[in-house]
Amino acid sequence: MECPCCGKSCAQAAETVLSGVEDMYQACGGCAGENDLDKSAPLKGLPKEIERCPECGKAALDGVMLEALRILKEVGLRDEKDCLKSVGWPLICPGYPLAYSPRLGPRTLMLMGQGLSTRAAEEIVERIPEVKGVILSRRVSGMVDGKAQEGELLAGCDIRADVIRGSAGEIVIYKSQSKIHVEFPRSRNLKVEALERHLFQARSRSVVDALCGPGTLGLMAGLMGAKKAVLNDIWLPAVENVVLNIEVNKDLLGVEKIERFPMPKKKIGDEPVLVCRASGACDIEVYHGDLKKLFTVIEPADLCVIDQFPGISTKEMETACCKCRRVAVI
Ligand SMILES: [Zn+2]
Ligand SMILES: [Zn+2]
Repeated sequence: MECPCCGKSCAQAAETVLSGVEDMYQACGGCAGENDLDKSAPLKGLPKEIERCPECGKAALDGVMLEALRILKEVGLRDEKDCLKSVGWPLICPGYPLAYSPRLGPRTLMLMGQGLSTRAAEEIVERIPEVKGVILSRRVSGMVDGKAQEGELLAGCDIRADVIRGSAGEIVIYKSQSKIHVEFPRSRNLKVEALERHLFQARSRSVVDALCGPGTLGLMAGLMGAKKAVLNDIWLPAVENVVLNIEVNKDLLGVEKIERFPMPKKKIGDEPVLVCRASGACDIEVYHGDLKKLFTVIEPADLCVIDQFPGISTKEMETACCKCRRVAVI
């Protein structure tokens, strides 16, 4: 699958990701023992260079962050008093809940932070093989309360997967991480659990994921046995991710056929536009548009889930979905 961001093979079939992820971040017999560094210690007291394992070639996460910090100092964005934490957030690719500090192979880390420049990011991606991309972050990315907010990919690629777990199994959700909010990997996903509860309590065969983002809940509903799932988002980058994620998870979801329609030009949708339809064990439709108009083009469903950012009123959205048998704000 060609990566929509960099053209390389960043996006892989879900089965491939899931079969490798357990071992991916583990140390081999040749790796040095635990060598976590103090994240708040100033650079001047930290080791001069890091070692990569002579056998597996992996580097410890803290070592990679240390190399990034040294590059940021070289270009004048940090100094001897700055610490590892000042680099930003490390996001492992794919995201997976780990009980230990990961060992990283090539292109398995995305850095997201502030006080970064394009030049620094390019140096980091070029000289540190473990880093796949560097993103300048601006608060939460995505559509927040009617306004588009996004970070800026400074260098590398920003396509990053999260492994999402539910009782029916796991799916893999890719995100354009500079444009879609970050979800930190947890072993229990409370939104997936809430979806499951509503789905089974309401014996729902049809589900609408009204603010679907990259498609986590709508596609998970397919894995949980829903016969029909409609996914909608007003934010075009999210909708583009959903279409990629249908392709990525097609065998797990029993999808036999995928039809893609032209993507709208506008980033923020209005009248709902059908951009993709998939059929098989679960029939899936993907719309780009304003939720308030969605039910002028689709039928009400057994269950409609609304997954909004915390602290934002969902009243208008609940009204828009009120013909559905059950409306759940998750
Ligand atoms: Zn890529
Ligand atoms: Zn090793």
